[in-house]
Amino acid sequence: MTHPFLTERSRGFLPSPVRDVWEASMQPGMISLAGGNPDLSLGDLDWVAEHAARLVREQGPTVLQYGSGTGTTALREAIVRLMAAEDVAADPAAIQVTAGSQLALDLVTKVLCEQGDTVLVEDPTYVGALGTFGGAGLRVEHVAMDAEGLVPAALEERIRHLVAEGRRPRMLYTIPNFQNPSGATLSERRRPQIVELCRAAGIPIVEDNPYGMLTTTPHAHVALHELDPEHVIYLGTFSKVLSPGLRVGWAAAPGWLRRPLQLAAEATVICASPLAQELAAHFVLERPFEAEIARAAAVYAERAEAMRAALAPVLPAGATLSRPQGGFFSWLALPEGWSADALLDAAIDERVVFVPGAAFRAPGEGGGELRLAYSFESPERLAEGARRLGRALARVSAA
Ligand code: PMP
Repeated sequence: MTHPFLTERSRGFLPSPVRDVWEASMQPGMISLAGGNPDLSLGDLDWVAEHAARLVREQGPTVLQYGSGTGTTALREAIVRLMAAEDVAADPAAIQVTAGSQLALDLVTKVLCEQGDTVLVEDPTYVGALGTFGGAGLRVEHVAMDAEGLVPAALEERIRHLVAEGRRPRMLYTIPNFQNPSGATLSERRRPQIVELCRAAGIPIVEDNPYGMLTTTPHAHVALHELDPEHVIYLGTFSKVLSPGLRVGWAAAPGWLRRPLQLAAEATVICASPLAQELAAHFVLERPFEAEIARAAAVYAERAEAMRAALAPVLPAGATLSRPQGGFFSWLALPEGWSADALLDAAIDERVVFVPGAAFRAPGEGGGELRLAYSFESPERLAEGARRLGRALARVSAA
């Protein structure tokens, strides 16, 4: 039952499955393979504390005041440097700072899509994007992925089909690097193919790249934005490399989008926190940020391997576990007939949680799949989590 005052659109805001299992993950003794949280102990929190105090003391009247609607000058320059470290070129004028990249996606959606429009996403895709699109009243079309990322032939076929139906998609939302939730990375040879298909069909691309630097093999792939800066809107964030609590993210936008995006941002949040923006800027401008991020990436890679090694002996025959080259997530596909929901119940009894895969996928798909996050727990606890998952698997198969 919904209240008569509520709009049809408000029903599109669905509860996040990640939040659903979050409560279970807070129970004492629980090992969480659920949330994609960065491990903040890998960063220098003392520097953040001291720097925040210094900023308030020395620049209080500025950093505690309302600020620019596009973002502070220092931060926009710092973002250009951060992007350059990933070989992505941008101009400070292209950068729209937002309170996290989730807000950047929301704003881009607002200015590119009308209610009822169709958008293309990967299958599976980031559940937070599905929340944004659901709340905007959009029709979401999932396009097949494999170990090399989005499948160009599937994209081409879907675009053709939708255009024939009079439903030209308004954008493609894609996470090319170490995707949330699958861990997959779009292969080098497919990148120009995807960009060319969308350009030919007149479909802008939203390239979401929160995990790109969190790899032990940096500079592996060209950004879609590099291939076509006029049609690709690039989203970035400090959430995974510094702190999600600061809520600092951005869009690097082509010229035609900058003014509408700025006005949408101002109408929505006025500005992102100037204090948080200055902290993020100084992280890039004053610290050896590349080395720090590389160190964190090495720790995450170690954790991925620890989880993988511990899972190998407990998985049923025919199960496949993705092998990400970076980021926070692996994707586990159980053999035909297994239910991730039933497994979650047994897993919670064994004191381990994960996110069932169906929420990330096209309707009706993914019932036997799981997203496993290895970013937050120590290698020892990941190994223990894998053993617990093994016991849950044994219980479900015996039932
Ligand atoms: N995109 C993806 C793919 C993500 O995984 C996340 C965070 N889980 C976000 C966007 C949102 O990040 P932010 O904290 O910058 O809003």
